[in-house]
Amino acid sequence: LFCKFVTGELATDVVAESDSSFAFRDINPQAPTHVLVVPRNHYANVAELAAASASETAGVFQLAAEVAKREGIADSGYRMVANTGPAAGQTVFHTHIHVLGGVSMSWPA
Ligand code: 5GP
Repeated sequence: LFCKFVTGELATDVVAESDSSFAFRDINPQAPTHVLVVPRNHYANVAELAAASASETAGVFQLAAEVAKREGIADSGYRMVANTGPAAGQTVFHTHIHVLGGVSMSWPA
């Protein structure tokens, strides 16, 4: 599914792009800003991404930081989440970082 957003085969609400990464709004936002950042290439989860490519791993975090700036949440604070595997609630197995912000959050959860 997320591969089809990256190629443009399916339309989505694009927030930012780089050579190696792609950012779009989550269809079911859990915060005022809820953006998903994915590498253009397909990896099932962050562990696969990290094992395969340091530059693409960096690219995802660089674009996530850019998204936070553009969304105006860089200074107030935001959260990056990578659900990894079924017990963590990962439902889409094209790795993605959630960028969540625009609201005060507590921790944990
Ligand atoms: P996960 O639970 O795998 O970390 O998160 C998957 C995320 O993808 C969820 O937050 C869900 O709302 C989002 N999502 C699932 N299908 C679509 C879709 O078709 N379009 C968009 N923009 N987000 C989606």
